[in-house]
Amino acid sequence: MALPGLSLQGNRQRVFYRSIREIKTHKQAATPRPSTTRMLDVVRKAAADIFDRHVSDADIWKSLTPKDFLPRTAQFLWKGIHNVHWIGRYWTHIPECEERATCKDCDVVEDLEHILLKCESPGRATIWRAAKALWRGKEGEWPELTLGTVLGCGLAEFRDERGKTKMGSQRLYRILMSESAFQIWKLRNERVISRDGTPASEDEIVNKWKFAVNQRLQVDITLANRPRKGKRPALAPHLVLATWSKTLDDEHKLPANWLREPRVLYLFTLPEELLCLCILEDFLRLCSSMQWILRGEIRLLIPRDEADWAWVEAH
Ligand SMILES: [Zn+2]
Repeated sequence: MALPGLSLQGNRQRVFYRSIREIKTHKQAATPRPSTTRMLDVVRKAAADIFDRHVSDADIWKSLTPKDFLPRTAQFLWKGIHNVHWIGRYWTHIPECEERATCKDCDVVEDLEHILLKCESPGRATIWRAAKALWRGKEGEWPELTLGTVLGCGLAEFRDERGKTKMGSQRLYRILMSESAFQIWKLRNERVISRDGTPASEDEIVNKWKFAVNQRLQVDITLANRPRKGKRPALAPHLVLATWSKTLDDEHKLPANWLREPRVLYLFTLPEELLCLCILEDFLRLCSSMQWILRGEIRLLIPRDEADWAWVEAH
């Protein structure tokens, strides 16, 4: 087969192979999968209806890359837009796995919209209620919750009366939407895969959500406090202050720039139950992937007893 623009004489296998791959990639890029196109349209419509933004496909993909998301949540949103999570109809074509397509609590074929926004299993509504309550302390009105606003939360824009972007609110909204959706997804997987359909308790669900949001706060504080030599911090301190203002416990007692406070800042008081072992293990997994936290560049306290501290030090 002669490739357009390539001479058969004097060329090597490597050149032919690369050319074929480029042509294939180009074709794939030109014709996205139908389900991806459908999801892109869902996100585009939400951005237009809720945030009055008219965006291209490229804008949607780009919205997944800012520092507002951790890699794991960005990947979850990315898979959602491509509609490649292993749920619902994915299983209907796999022999002996057909029953996995159905939500056992609601008796309908699952899809991401069902899991995140409609499912009657415990957890989903609780998490959105908690996110809404936190947001109301800062901004008031919570934008309509749809699959498009969840997957396209990186496109959200909030402006003041003079049309100036409210960077802090925008960032908090993106964090709350992405982390809450990801928590609901993880709870669903845990319930279906590891717990044989038994849901977690309401307390456990709320605590896990609080913990996830607190982790984001702690990561923000660290990034804003940790400039590399001669460089600016990875995250602008004023953005971190603007993001978390009006969400912290006893905020009125803190100095204006609380980022350098050598004390723990908790988004809200963490109940005692949060410190059950499984959560502690989650926490330590995060710490080990971020060695600098354990090196003492930021103080993270776990307010229980000496036995817990001994356990932490041993790991
Ligand atoms: Zn359901």
